[in-house]
Amino acid sequence: MRFFNTLTKKIEEFIPNEEGVIKMYTCGPTVYHYQHLGNMRTYITEDVFEKAFKYLGYKVNRVMNITDVGHLKSDADEGEDKMVIAMEREHKSSKEIAKFYTDDFMENCALVNIKWPDTVVPATTEIDMYIKIITKLLETGYAYESNGNIYYDTSKFPNYYELSGRKEDELILASRDDVEEDKNKRNPADFVLWFTNSKFGNQELQWDSPFGRGFPGWHIECSGIAIKHLGEHLDIHFGAEDAVFPHHTNEIAQSEAYLGHKWCNYWVHLSWLLTDNIKMSKSLGHVTTIKTLKEEGYNPLSYRYFILSSYYHKQVNFTYETLDQNEAAYLKLLNKTTSLTPSGDLDKDLFDKYDNQFKEYLSNDIGTSNCITLVYDLLKDEQVNNTTKIELIKSWDTVLSLDLLKKEEKEIDSELLSYINKKIEERKEAKANKDFPLADQIRNELEEKGIILKDTREGTTFELVK
Ligand code: AMP
Ligand code: ZN
Repeated sequence: MRFFNTLTKKIEEFIPNEEGVIKMYTCGPTVYHYQHLGNMRTYITEDVFEKAFKYLGYKVNRVMNITDVGHLKSDADEGEDKMVIAMEREHKSSKEIAKFYTDDFMENCALVNIKWPDTVVPATTEIDMYIKIITKLLETGYAYESNGNIYYDTSKFPNYYELSGRKEDELILASRDDVEEDKNKRNPADFVLWFTNSKFGNQELQWDSPFGRGFPGWHIECSGIAIKHLGEHLDIHFGAEDAVFPHHTNEIAQSEAYLGHKWCNYWVHLSWLLTDNIKMSKSLGHVTTIKTLKEEGYNPLSYRYFILSSYYHKQVNFTYETLDQNEAAYLKLLNKTTSLTPSGDLDKDLFDKYDNQFKEYLSNDIGTSNCITLVYDLLKDEQVNNTTKIELIKSWDTVLSLDLLKKEEKEIDSELLSYINKKIEERKEAKANKDFPLADQIRNELEEKGIILKDTREGTTFELVK
């Protein structure tokens, strides 16, 4: 498997620490608002990576956090606390807000066939781990107390700028433009590990700690959760491109200072979804979700198809026009794949030939758009019989997750259902009374309405064909 590693700035061959086993960490959502289509691009891509690793034979253990405790706009005591803003907006407790948006996120994930990670950890459940890390960082001189808060001293960590590959001045400037400076810090890039004296005194969630009653900084949660649940050596860490600095830069600094060795070898950053050619972002009021698309009449998987058709390491612009095109292409494809009926025996050689090609595309920097093209090529190939085509598509769909073989289930309204059930009962009674002409008459009557009865050992079932 080869993909772009932000740490080395090149496409690299992936070698996990333990052969065949991957410890994978993905930054999760902040749950003070909806996860929009941009956020979902990131989660769909991470889902495909996980499934691709598995398809290529690896075992994957994936952990994701849920940011359910104050998420400040910046790293020091600056910006605004988005959870507090949500509490004021919705007149709910932070717990209620976190639950509402976590549930909503799960529902959106399910609509685009994202597998829920093996372990999902709300940040509020690992406070002891953050305290443990911060205590050690204070003991070893990587952290200091200033005006009630605990800060990480970035000047103590020589590789601080390695991941971003940018210079200190540039980064400070980039993160500086809309926030006032925190005068408690020793160095401009220092960031808060623990707040006891935040200017946001109205925090609902606070915990006792050796440094005083307060709450954790934003970055420490990912280090704490990843180390606690995946151990001291992480194989691969994901996030969107904006996470490189400061979030992941700070994660590396605090984790490696705590562990005393290198933490994670591979960092993957997924490119943004744009709208009107700027980053889709909650702060700009972008709240279109997968559910919104569904309400608007789209098949949510058309969005997944759109994301898989683009290269994860390139920004893409979302427009409804593009979505319409992708929906048309997806439904056309679906029409072809779902109408395949088995014929012939599985042709093992052709199966392997196509499957190896699929694996090659996946291992070459997750070439999902090539994988989709391969589905079209397969469908067109007259040398491959339908049984082999079906088996290949079934197998590939464990990665693509586009429901390529799932026939659309027609919704049955309750009136129709009770009519069918009544007729099935009448027919059962007729058969019990040996009135076979009546039983046949009922069957025919239903058939004319497109309702096909099937007698099974468990009883009579039906299928709608119209
Ligand atoms: P948030 O809940 O805002 O922290 O975002 C959750 C994840 O979505 C993070 O990894 C973000 O970096 C990512 N993200 C935010 N906006 C976009 C976007 N427009 N395109 C892709 N990913 C995004
Ligand atoms: Zn994170």
